[in-house]
Amino acid sequence: MGIEENSPRLDHEVVIVGSGFGGMGVAIGLKNMKIDDFVILERADDLGGTWRDNTYPGLAVDVASMAYSYSFEPNPDWTRLYARGPEIWAYADHCAEKYDIKRHIRFGQNVERAVFDEDASTWTVHIEGGKTYVCRYFISATGALVTPKMPNIEGADTFKGKVIHTARWDHEHDLTGERVAVIGTGATAIQLIPEIVSQVQQLDVYQRTPIWLLPKFDGEISDTWKKAFRYVPGLQRLGRLSTNALFELLVGGGFNHYIGMSWLFNWLERQSIAHIRRQVKDPAIQEKLIPDYTFFCKRASFTNDYFPVFNRDNVALVTDPIARITESGIVTADGTVREIDTMICATGFSVFEKGIMPGCEVVGRGGKELGQYWEDTRLKAFKGITVPDFPNYFMIFGPYAIASFCYFGMIDTQVRHLSRCLKTAKKRGANCIEVKRSAFDDDFKQVMKRRESQVLYRGNCASSNTYYFDRNGDGPLLRPATHVGTWFKSHFISMQNYEFGLKG
Ligand code: NAP
Repeated sequence: MGIEENSPRLDHEVVIVGSGFGGMGVAIGLKNMKIDDFVILERADDLGGTWRDNTYPGLAVDVASMAYSYSFEPNPDWTRLYARGPEIWAYADHCAEKYDIKRHIRFGQNVERAVFDEDASTWTVHIEGGKTYVCRYFISATGALVTPKMPNIEGADTFKGKVIHTARWDHEHDLTGERVAVIGTGATAIQLIPEIVSQVQQLDVYQRTPIWLLPKFDGEISDTWKKAFRYVPGLQRLGRLSTNALFELLVGGGFNHYIGMSWLFNWLERQSIAHIRRQVKDPAIQEKLIPDYTFFCKRASFTNDYFPVFNRDNVALVTDPIARITESGIVTADGTVREIDTMICATGFSVFEKGIMPGCEVVGRGGKELGQYWEDTRLKAFKGITVPDFPNYFMIFGPYAIASFCYFGMIDTQVRHLSRCLKTAKKRGANCIEVKRSAFDDDFKQVMKRRESQVLYRGNCASSNTYYFDRNGDGPLLRPATHVGTWFKSHFISMQNYEFGLKG
């Protein structure tokens, strides 16, 4: 379906920003609609988003690989239940090849700004260096965890040793025999630390807030299982469904309905504490590793090899707050100075800040800029994908887009939503699609009502320091809904929620 094959003003029908799984999912969706006139603008020199940028030792998924993949492209050859980073990146590359996406990607294109032309109903996408692309539909798939956050600690810029952020791993730097500090104990640190611990001379782990961690039922997938996944119909799908069902129970159910399901949280917390007590010898260290906030107030994860690290002689768990960083080490509030050679910042990402979501300026009707609009109001988008005054603009992973942490499920629902919009516009001979303000407001009202029962608002999250909250106290990362419900509804999203017009 070429929408306006011969329009002279357009460079491309559709411009997508970002060649991660989100952007590639959109591209595959467009191809399914027979739209071939699109480009993916990518600022880096390779595809893969997170899985290109993150290459730290130990990188792996913590959602079973069978569910961490496109539903239409199962991979019977996963080598582990929880695939390692390079394997996920290879899967991304395989999808790009198989679905003929690569020829659409323009690398080294850093999108600075996209501006809507009201008269022509087109977007002009401005690239760093001056190049522009004019398109009818502009789609951002720039992800949420992309911009590394460095710790804002006094003296950090005076440190003379090596500094590495986990999302920009320096493979040239050899940690062998070094005194190393890891700042942060989130989902990244718990994967990295066990990988480097036996290589370094001394490892100081600076923990501000512990996270809840459960045992990881991981392991290699044998050739027999691989054959079974390849040849037994529905087996992979069953694996995927089971994983998604688990997340539906934990997040769609538990996270979203804390009061009715607090028994589940209590049980998870007990399992996590028992895990610590089994794996860590020193009772004082055990206590330091146990969070004092409700499970799921912040990102929990799975591990088998993180806790035993604290039984080693060359590892210190430092929980005194960091007071400052000097030329040669880290000073904690109790006055202790720990000299180091390398400081590893496992300090996460800037998430709900202006310029991050989406990753460029988006200027809609009347000069309204999306980031500023959200700054002045609150983060919101109709079903996490469209905003009034930004016609013909769709975002993958907007506010409240993802349900039950089902990332690939979210791509699926968002692509279905946008495909319905584009098909309807084509059918009606329209070239301007805009969500109605009433639909946008109603959706946000519903989100606000439903979030009331979420653990973020009902649990004890005060001490969790969670990045799930933005500066308004909203939690726009997760939709207060189940994935199944969101997926089902995405098939029936009424196009009455949109205005379709013809401009130009
Ligand atoms: P994160 O969860 O934001 O954790 C950052 C850590 O750094 C926290 O422990 C934080 O402490 C600490 N920190 C930040 N600034 C600090 C400072 N100034 N002083 C001391 N400590 C500081 O980041 P992440 O571990 O990189 O994970 C980010 C997200 O990436 C995860 O939530 C997850 O969604 C994703 N991820 C996924 C996988 C996977 O397997 N799928 C793996 C890794 C990461 P506070 O908690 O006190 O703020």
